[in-house]
Amino acid sequence: MHTFAYARPATLAEAVALLAEHGAAARVLAGGTDLIIRLRDGTLVPDVVIDLKRIASLRPGVREEAGLVVIGATTVMTDVAADPLVRRHFPALADAAAVVGSVQIRNRATLGGNICNASPAADTAPPLLVYDATVVAEGPGGTRRIAVDDFFVRSGVTTLAGDEIVTAIELPLPALRMGAAHERRTRRRGHDLASVTLCCGVREDGVTRLSYGSVGPRPVLRVDETGILADPAAPAEARTNILEQLLADASPSPRSMRASPAYRLAMLRVLGRRALATALERLEARA
Ligand SMILES: Cc1cc2nc3c(=O)[nH]c(=O)nc-3n(C[C@H](O)[C@H](O)[C@H](O)COP(=O)(O)OP(=O)(O)OC[C@H]3O[C@@H](n4cnc5c(N)ncnc54)[C@H](O)[C@@H]3O)c2cc1C
Repeated sequence: MHTFAYARPATLAEAVALLAEHGAAARVLAGGTDLIIRLRDGTLVPDVVIDLKRIASLRPGVREEAGLVVIGATTVMTDVAADPLVRRHFPALADAAAVVGSVQIRNRATLGGNICNASPAADTAPPLLVYDATVVAEGPGGTRRIAVDDFFVRSGVTTLAGDEIVTAIELPLPALRMGAAHERRTRRRGHDLASVTLCCGVREDGVTRLSYGSVGPRPVLRVDETGILADPAAPAEARTNILEQLLADASPSPRSMRASPAYRLAMLRVLGRRALATALERLEARA
């Protein structure tokens, strides 16, 4: 492995200063489930690795605050999946966190790391998009809030500046009832990255939010405001047409080893219909 310095700052200010000093030669370490692999295989060769785990203000946890549920960036998937606030208000996010990797991975992998890694297959991205999350980042200029839809650019690239650290993910407490479901398709049972990952949320006012990943350079969010998808009594053809429009931004790479574009596109439609049906059932159950 390439030799690098290891820093374990005690404050966020120190960590941000280190990032500002070293620029692209520095890398932040959270759970390490993505980073360590890339350090080992040499695709990343930083001069310094900055471990976030000793920073008191970045302690993991989920709290309710001023109409928001705030999830600390260093909160691991196991805790996101089990958290009562997340399960009550954002069950599709809990479901997505519960299927990331294996038990060992979920005990290390953080929510912040999942979005900063910006894999198109990141399982928490579709529910965060459906639930309209905001990414909170700290940099030399202070705190910045980024709508999660403006955060992802392409695989491995986000709109986070090189000297910023994600401190939390904020989720607005739903003003309207919503039923939501997360679905994914993998090559095999057990731990595997998704060939398709998708989340669908249907609100009581008839708005349907659909988000999908692993079928293009970044996770996509599309919204149907016609009310047709949310209406099980609407003609089947109309519902199919709307679903097709929402799924039209999928453009899977022919170079991916996990699944062919044709398979991904077919599965996207299966998962889309399945998640929509479950979301409608869950909306009904919340009445
Ligand atoms: C065997 C295996 C199975 C996996 N299965 C899945 C799966 O099913 N679904 C899935 O979505 N992912 C999966 N992953 C990927 C990985 O576990 C997740 O992306 C995880 O959430 C990353 O979090 P981490 O804390 O380990 O990030 P790290 O590895 O510590 O960091 C990842 C990247 O994000 C940056 N970073 C981390 N935290 C911050 C922060 N707070 N601010 C700024 N930058 C930051 C790091 O510098 C690095 O570039 C799997 C990985 C492995 C090894």
